[in-house]
Amino acid sequence: KNIVVAIDGYSSCGKSTLAKALAKKLGFIYIDSGAMYRAITLYFLRNNVDLENHDAIADALKHIELNFHSKDYESHITLNGEEVSDEIRLMPVSEAVSPVSAIKEVRKEMVKQQQRMGKSKNIVMDGRDIGTAVFPDAQVKFFMTADPKIRAERRYNEMVAKGDTSITLEEVFENIAHRDYADTTRAESPLTRAEDAIILDNTDITEEEQLAFALDKVQP
Ligand code: C5P
Repeated sequence: KNIVVAIDGYSSCGKSTLAKALAKKLGFIYIDSGAMYRAITLYFLRNNVDLENHDAIADALKHIELNFHSKDYESHITLNGEEVSDEIRLMPVSEAVSPVSAIKEVRKEMVKQQQRMGKSKNIVMDGRDIGTAVFPDAQVKFFMTADPKIRAERRYNEMVAKGDTSITLEEVFENIAHRDYADTTRAESPLTRAEDAIILDNTDITEEEQLAFALDKVQP
């Protein structure tokens, strides 16, 4: 049977850093479920899809095709064939993604696609509901957390390093706080820790230490 490693947690906790490192070490496929919600959000923004209009949402979902491809262990996503990996990380999408991901039809479709991807391959998938809704039977589950100030600083430094100087540290902090609130309080699959998930608080540990900790849980 193929192995699924589920990584959930708050925004900007380093889930993708850990997921990528684990996937690389184990030779598993890394799937960034957040990128899928972000790409859907980008499509909705570009096409002015009304979030109250269920027919329009269902119709939009029919016209969206998402695909992952990987380059040098970095995961890239395409939206109807267009590479959107960078655009989905910018503020307009970050600000609109939580309401879009709270929509029932959107989640239903994403969960279906994610389950298909983990059916026969060894994968590491990160997100908010992977260990609870997408793969409740995953062999190993992690629930990541870290001090919100540290999370904002890390994300801010990452954006600056990429040349994005359009935002302040305070704005990044606000966005993270908002998404945490929205993601944990929504009606549909709110972010919660699966009972059998291993808690990983990386406020005071290095990336190397967290990888060693996680590897030990996957390959005891
Ligand atoms: O992981 P990332 O921060 O890129 O995810 C962006 C947003 O997508 C989250 O704030 C959340 O609203 C949504 N999301 C979700 N379920 C997932 C992954 C992401 O609702 N499995």
